[in-house]
Amino acid sequence: MSLPDSVRPSTAAAQALGFLDPATGAFVPPIQPATTYERGADNRLLSGRLYSRPDNPNYEQAEALLTRLEGGAATAVFSSGMSAATAVFLALKPGDHVLVPDVTYWALRNWLVGWATDWGLRIEAVDMTEPARAAAAVRPGETRLIWIETPANPTLVITDIAALADIAHRAGARLAVDSTFATPVHTQPLALGADLVMHSATKYLNGHSDVVAGAVTAAAVNDAWQRIKAVRSQAGAVLGPFEAWLLLRGMRTLFVRVAAQSRSAQRIAEHFSRHPKVEAVLYPGLPTFSGHGVAASQMRGGFGGMLSLRVKGGAPGALALIGKLRLWRRATSLGGVESLVEHRASVEGPQSATPADLLRMSVGLEDTDDLILDLEQALG
Ligand SMILES: *Cc1c(COP(=O)(O)O)cnc(C)c1O
Repeated sequence: MSLPDSVRPSTAAAQALGFLDPATGAFVPPIQPATTYERGADNRLLSGRLYSRPDNPNYEQAEALLTRLEGGAATAVFSSGMSAATAVFLALKPGDHVLVPDVTYWALRNWLVGWATDWGLRIEAVDMTEPARAAAAVRPGETRLIWIETPANPTLVITDIAALADIAHRAGARLAVDSTFATPVHTQPLALGADLVMHSATKYLNGHSDVVAGAVTAAAVNDAWQRIKAVRSQAGAVLGPFEAWLLLRGMRTLFVRVAAQSRSAQRIAEHFSRHPKVEAVLYPGLPTFSGHGVAASQMRGGFGGMLSLRVKGGAPGALALIGKLRLWRRATSLGGVESLVEHRASVEGPQSATPADLLRMSVGLEDTDDLILDLEQALG
């Protein structure tokens, strides 16, 4: 690895940190499927690696690049975004008090309300878009973690990372940020004071809808970080070497993909914010969006490739619209090269707090005019 430290993140990504295989001179890393590593005659490990649950060169390459992109001290990749997120909570202890947002990724919310609560974490949901509410709810000495997600899935609400970091630290707690929607292209939560950044790497980091993976990056290597890493190395939420290799390959084009997706999302948001059959466009890049000011201060170079449309006619109107689309693919997930749309309330089920007229859209890399025309014809 020979890349100068001074290069910008997009350069570090494009060259995968300047990887060079000492055995062959190849600059594409090989996939290392071995589960175990040999010891020398003196019984010492030849490479320092022991076994592929804790150690694999393909994890290390993806982790080193993400650490660089987030400006952190260390990263651990996991078998999914959910295993990355839950590792942060499992590293706490029963009885610990945790603040979480009232709008957060659905599957995580379910796990927190069900499993984490049964297991003894005291989980309290607050509206994190108002830092004063978090400041009022935090319990100095008892709250161990504040978890936020910004922009949040699926309403795109924005949370002020620096304000929440301050609230957390004054209470002796740590701040973790689910930055899946923002990506390191637009936001570096650690530079704003967060202690941990989590990604569903299934989404933009890998970027091609063909790997399920997650990651946590820490600002500092300390006991709390070792506990998070132990959730992978001891409890075993490991990514396969091939998936780690694909993730590294996907991250090499992260900056061009996300920049194009954000430009396209901004145009689509602006276009449909004036459409008579659209009730509201939820997108942080619109000056009329409630979180725009905070988003503009903590996101750079764009506002991401995710937006939601609230359409006239409630759930039937929303479902009729997506039934007529020819180009946007009707599927869950996000962050891939193909544009996806989903009626989020149907996916979340009867307990969902998501508005029934909301369509969540992940803008891909198709021509923006094609995407706009397809939505226009479906809106009729
Ligand atoms: C998808 C997603 C997750 C969960 O990630 P998986 O890789 O599906 O386990 C967590 N947070 C956000 C914001 C997501 O979009």
